[in-house]
Amino acid sequence: RSMIISLIGRPNVGKSSIFNRLMKKQHKAITHDMPGVTRDRHYGITSFNDKDEDRPLDAILVDTGGFYPTQVDESGKNDQEVNANKFFNIMTDHAHQAIEESDLVLFVVDVREGVLPFDKTIANYIRKQKKKMWLVVNKYDSESQSGDEYSFYELGVNDDEMFVTSAAHGRGMETLRENIHEEM
Ligand code: GDP
Ligand code: MG
Repeated sequence: RSMIISLIGRPNVGKSSIFNRLMKKQHKAITHDMPGVTRDRHYGITSFNDKDEDRPLDAILVDTGGFYPTQVDESGKNDQEVNANKFFNIMTDHAHQAIEESDLVLFVVDVREGVLPFDKTIANYIRKQKKKMWLVVNKYDSESQSGDEYSFYELGVNDDEMFVTSAAHGRGMETLRENIHEEM
Protein backbone atom coordinates (compact mmCIF):
# COMPACT_ATOMS: atom_id res chain seq x y z
CA ARG A 1 0.00 0.00 0.00
CA SER A 2 1.39 3.39 -0.82
CA MET A 3 1.08 6.03 1.84
CA ILE A 4 1.08 9.77 2.20
CA ILE A 5 3.20 10.87 5.12
CA SER A 6 3.43 14.48 6.22
CA LEU A 7 5.97 16.24 8.38
CA ILE A 8 4.32 18.64 10.80
CA GLY A 9 5.69 20.78 13.60
CA ARG A 10 6.92 24.20 14.63
CA PRO A 11 9.47 25.96 12.44
CA ASN A 12 13.11 24.98 12.87
CA VAL A 13 12.57 21.64 14.61
CA GLY A 14 14.13 19.78 11.65
CA LYS A 15 11.20 18.76 9.42
CA SER A 16 12.99 19.51 6.16
CA SER A 17 16.16 17.81 7.37
CA ILE A 18 14.16 14.67 8.19
CA PHE A 19 12.43 14.89 4.81
CA ASN A 20 15.83 14.98 3.13
CA ARG A 21 17.04 12.00 5.15
CA LEU A 22 13.97 9.94 4.32
CA MET A 23 14.25 10.89 0.67
CA LYS A 24 17.90 9.91 0.64
CA LYS A 25 19.28 11.47 -2.52
CA GLN A 26 16.14 11.49 -4.59
CA HIS A 27 14.80 14.92 -3.87
CA LYS A 28 15.73 17.73 -1.54
CA ALA A 29 13.68 20.00 0.65
CA ILE A 30 14.93 23.43 1.51
CA THR A 31 16.44 23.70 4.98
CA HIS A 32 17.48 26.91 6.60
CA ASP A 33 18.34 28.25 10.03
CA MET A 34 15.63 30.89 9.76
CA PRO A 35 12.19 29.66 10.80
CA GLY A 36 9.62 29.54 8.07
CA VAL A 37 11.76 28.88 5.06
CA THR A 38 9.56 26.15 3.62
CA ARG A 39 6.39 28.11 3.14
CA ASP A 40 4.37 25.67 1.08
CA ARG A 41 4.00 21.97 1.00
CA HIS A 42 6.84 20.22 -0.71
CA TYR A 43 6.30 16.73 -2.10
CA GLY A 44 8.67 13.89 -2.72
CA ILE A 45 8.39 10.22 -3.44
CA THR A 46 10.62 7.80 -1.63
CA SER A 47 10.88 4.08 -2.01
CA PHE A 48 10.82 1.65 0.89
CA ASN A 49 11.88 -1.48 -0.96
CA ASP A 50 15.47 -1.50 0.33
CA LYS A 51 15.19 -4.84 2.06
CA ASP A 52 12.47 -6.57 0.11
CA GLU A 53 13.07 -6.10 -3.58
CA ASP A 54 9.97 -8.11 -4.51
CA ARG A 55 7.71 -5.67 -2.83
CA PRO A 56 8.57 -2.15 -3.93
CA LEU A 57 6.57 0.39 -1.97
CA ASP A 58 6.48 4.07 -2.55
CA ALA A 59 5.51 6.70 -0.05
CA ILE A 60 4.71 10.29 -0.78
CA LEU A 61 6.37 12.54 1.74
CA VAL A 62 4.98 15.98 2.37
CA ASP A 63 7.22 18.59 3.94
CA THR A 64 5.41 21.61 5.30
CA GLY A 65 6.42 25.05 6.43
CA GLY A 66 4.64 24.30 9.67
CA PHE A 67 2.97 27.00 11.64
CA TYR A 68 2.81 30.79 11.88
CA PRO A 69 6.12 31.40 10.08
CA THR A 70 5.58 35.00 9.08
CA GLN A 71 4.23 36.07 12.47
CA VAL A 72 7.36 34.76 14.12
CA ASP A 73 9.67 36.37 11.62
CA GLU A 74 8.07 39.77 11.83
CA SER A 75 7.26 40.12 15.51
CA GLY A 76 10.14 38.12 16.92
CA LYS A 77 7.76 36.33 19.24
CA ASN A 78 8.51 32.79 20.29
CA ASP A 79 5.84 30.12 20.66
CA GLN A 80 5.40 30.58 24.35
CA GLU A 81 4.16 34.06 23.63
CA VAL A 82 1.72 32.84 21.03
CA ASN A 83 -1.73 32.33 22.45
CA ALA A 84 -2.98 28.85 21.70
CA ASN A 85 -6.39 30.35 20.94
CA LYS A 86 -4.95 32.01 17.89
CA PHE A 87 -3.93 28.62 16.61
CA PHE A 88 -6.45 28.35 13.82
CA ASN A 89 -5.60 31.78 12.48
CA ILE A 90 -1.91 31.24 12.39
CA MET A 91 -1.62 27.66 11.26
CA THR A 92 -1.00 27.73 7.56
CA ASP A 93 -3.58 26.32 5.18
CA HIS A 94 -0.84 24.14 3.83
CA ALA A 95 -0.27 22.46 7.17
CA HIS A 96 -4.03 21.92 7.51
CA GLN A 97 -4.21 20.38 4.06
CA ALA A 98 -1.13 18.25 4.57
CA ILE A 99 -2.62 16.73 7.73
CA GLU A 100 -5.92 16.11 6.00
CA GLU A 101 -4.39 14.24 3.07
CA SER A 102 -2.03 12.12 5.20
CA ASP A 103 -2.21 8.48 6.20
CA LEU A 104 0.48 9.12 8.77
CA VAL A 105 1.60 12.36 10.38
CA LEU A 106 5.17 12.63 11.62
CA PHE A 107 4.92 15.27 14.31
CA VAL A 108 8.42 16.64 14.83
CA VAL A 109 9.62 18.28 18.05
CA ASP A 110 12.99 19.53 19.28
CA VAL A 111 14.35 17.54 22.24
CA ARG A 112 16.50 20.50 23.27
CA GLU A 113 13.49 22.74 23.76
CA GLY A 114 11.29 20.28 25.63
CA VAL A 115 7.50 20.33 25.31
CA LEU A 116 6.28 23.82 24.42
CA PRO A 117 2.62 24.82 24.83
CA PHE A 118 2.28 25.11 21.09
CA ASP A 119 3.43 21.49 20.67
CA LYS A 120 0.44 20.41 22.77
CA THR A 121 -1.88 22.45 20.60
CA ILE A 122 -0.52 20.88 17.43
CA ALA A 123 -0.70 17.35 18.88
CA ASN A 124 -4.30 17.90 19.94
CA TYR A 125 -5.20 19.21 16.51
CA ILE A 126 -3.68 16.20 14.72
CA ARG A 127 -5.48 13.87 17.09
CA LYS A 128 -8.78 15.65 16.53
CA GLN A 129 -8.37 14.94 12.81
CA LYS A 130 -8.18 11.27 13.79
CA LYS A 131 -4.85 10.85 12.06
CA LYS A 132 -2.25 8.29 12.97
CA MET A 133 0.52 10.32 14.56
CA TRP A 134 4.08 9.40 15.37
CA LEU A 135 6.20 11.73 17.43
CA VAL A 136 9.70 12.35 16.11
CA VAL A 137 11.90 13.77 18.85
CA ASN A 138 14.66 15.34 16.81
CA LYS A 139 18.03 17.01 17.54
CA TYR A 140 18.95 14.09 19.75
CA ASP A 141 22.58 14.41 18.75
CA SER A 142 24.38 12.84 21.67
CA GLU A 143 24.07 10.23 24.39
CA SER A 144 24.27 13.00 26.97
CA GLN A 145 20.67 13.81 26.03
CA SER A 146 19.55 10.33 27.07
CA GLY A 147 16.28 10.54 28.97
CA ASP A 148 15.42 14.01 27.69
CA GLU A 149 12.77 12.45 25.46
CA TYR A 150 10.67 11.24 28.43
CA SER A 151 8.98 14.59 28.95
CA PHE A 152 7.41 14.22 25.49
CA TYR A 153 5.17 11.40 26.71
CA GLU A 154 3.11 14.30 27.98
CA LEU A 155 1.94 14.68 24.38
CA GLY A 156 0.09 11.40 24.80
CA VAL A 157 2.11 8.99 22.69
CA ASN A 158 3.01 5.38 23.42
CA ASP A 159 6.49 3.88 23.25
CA ASP A 160 5.92 2.56 19.76
CA GLU A 161 4.77 5.96 18.54
CA MET A 162 7.89 7.82 19.64
CA PHE A 163 11.13 7.96 17.65
CA VAL A 164 14.28 9.75 18.71
CA THR A 165 16.34 11.08 15.83
CA SER A 166 19.17 13.33 14.86
CA ALA A 167 18.55 14.39 11.31
CA ALA A 168 21.89 16.17 11.48
CA HIS A 169 23.82 12.97 12.25
CA GLY A 170 21.44 10.36 10.88
CA ARG A 171 20.68 8.76 14.21
CA GLY A 172 17.35 6.93 14.35
CA MET A 173 16.54 7.48 10.69
CA GLU A 174 16.89 3.84 9.71
CA THR A 175 14.58 2.77 12.55
CA LEU A 176 12.04 5.33 11.40
CA ARG A 177 12.29 4.10 7.81
CA GLU A 178 11.87 0.48 8.91
CA ASN A 179 8.79 1.31 10.95
CA ILE A 180 7.23 3.21 8.06
CA HIS A 181 7.94 0.25 5.81
CA GLU A 182 6.21 -2.10 8.23
CA GLU A 183 3.23 0.21 8.34
CA MET A 184 2.73 0.03 4.56
P1 GDP B 1 12.23 22.92 9.70
O1 GDP B 1 12.00 24.40 9.80
O2 GDP B 1 11.43 22.20 10.74
O3 GDP B 1 12.05 22.37 8.33
O4 GDP B 1 13.76 22.68 10.14
P2 GDP B 1 15.05 22.47 9.22
O5 GDP B 1 15.13 21.07 8.74
O6 GDP B 1 15.11 23.55 8.21
O7 GDP B 1 16.19 22.64 10.30
C1 GDP B 1 16.33 23.83 11.06
C2 GDP B 1 17.75 23.93 11.60
O8 GDP B 1 17.97 22.85 12.52
C3 GDP B 1 18.81 23.77 10.52
O9 GDP B 1 19.90 24.59 10.86
C4 GDP B 1 19.21 22.31 10.62
O10 GDP B 1 20.51 22.08 10.18
C5 GDP B 1 19.08 22.07 12.12
N1 GDP B 1 18.82 20.67 12.45
C6 GDP B 1 17.94 19.82 11.88
N2 GDP B 1 18.00 18.59 12.44
C7 GDP B 1 18.94 18.69 13.43
C8 GDP B 1 19.46 17.75 14.38
O11 GDP B 1 19.10 16.57 14.45
N3 GDP B 1 20.40 18.22 15.24
C9 GDP B 1 20.85 19.51 15.20
N4 GDP B 1 21.77 19.87 16.09
N5 GDP B 1 20.39 20.41 14.30
C10 GDP B 1 19.45 20.00 13.43
MG1 MG C 1 11.42 23.32 6.58
